[in-house]
Amino acid sequence: MTGEQVLTNGQQPGSELTDGFGREITYLRVSATDRCDLRCVYCMAEDMTFLPKDDVLSLEEMERLCSAFIGLGVRKIRVTGGEPLVRRGVMSLFQGLGQHLKTGALNELTLTTNATQLDRFADDLYGAGVRRVNVSLDTLDPAKFAAITRLGRIEKVFDGLAAAKSAGLSVKINMVALRDHNEDEISDMLAWCGRQGFDLTLIEVMPMGDMGGPMRLDQYLPLSLVQSRLAKNWDLQDIDDNTGGPARYVRVAETGRKLGFITPLTNNFCDDCNRVRLTCTGSLFMCLGQDDRSDLRDLLRAGGDGTELQQAISRAIGVKPKGHDFAIGHDSAPAVARHMNATGG
Ligand code: SAM
Ligand code: SF4
Repeated sequence: MTGEQVLTNGQQPGSELTDGFGREITYLRVSATDRCDLRCVYCMAEDMTFLPKDDVLSLEEMERLCSAFIGLGVRKIRVTGGEPLVRRGVMSLFQGLGQHLKTGALNELTLTTNATQLDRFADDLYGAGVRRVNVSLDTLDPAKFAAITRLGRIEKVFDGLAAAKSAGLSVKINMVALRDHNEDEISDMLAWCGRQGFDLTLIEVMPMGDMGGPMRLDQYLPLSLVQSRLAKNWDLQDIDDNTGGPARYVRVAETGRKLGFITPLTNNFCDDCNRVRLTCTGSLFMCLGQDDRSDLRDLLRAGGDGTELQQAISRAIGVKPKGHDFAIGHDSAPAVARHMNATGG
């Protein structure tokens, strides 16, 4: 642990973070870096400019901020990015946050990764207390993978997944449903995940960041359509599994695994949203699809103590927007100008 003692006494107070619509905030997603070793077509432009190093929080600063959130009642932290595992020394963040699992102040520490580095880190992640990982994989075809990620070799992902399995980590695959790119593979992916013992979540492409040209409309595939197509060949059984997130789940009877749908466009589930996002520069975004934010870095670097940080966090959450306004249409600009890697997906 570094930084101040901010209510890390092992007790389990209820969340002190309730927004103006009565939603309790118990889930923090933290972007460890905006950088990535891939350039997925829906996430980044081919030629990205990344943040100057001085703007990015040190891992100690991130841990201090996360501790302030935990002190206020956050129970789950997901480390994301950019690609969290390309940040040098990132395992120290997992180890520091893992201490809060031991005290019982935190219920779950997890990450979202492209898995290209997971073979190096799976055992250490497990050692730090991580038990589940989300791995983004949009296709099983090496050539398509190289095209979608612009830089990637799928073998690295398979190595990472094998390492995750042998380390004892549960895996959920995140697959962005892309019209004409991978829509013919979704059923095969479901079968493959069943054989591997992985859950699968399908994601609708979200209009974040300018990709140049009409890319987003070309990519958009409504999951309502995907679900009805899948239901012709698979027995998809409704289950009550509300994580307070944007995903809705069914059980795939043939494999026993869960299948999730993240549908910000055909449906939105903002009413029971329980999460906020912290960028690698210390900006707290109250909603993925809105620009409202609070910059915590200056306060942190000015030596703000735990109480001041917690007050700033509580104030920001008090004005969390009701929901996002994502829409995809012929004339629609991105709902927010920043790319997904900046906010943390
Ligand atoms: N690099 C890691 C990865 O790919 O898993 C973590 C960060 S990535 C931004 C997190 C998730 O956001 C990934 O599952 C990715 O597919 C998804 N994502 C990125 N851009 C998106 C977009 N415009 N619409 C929907 N999902 C997106
Ligand atoms: Fe990198 Fe993840 Fe974005 Fe792909 S989705 S470019 S792996 S941050």
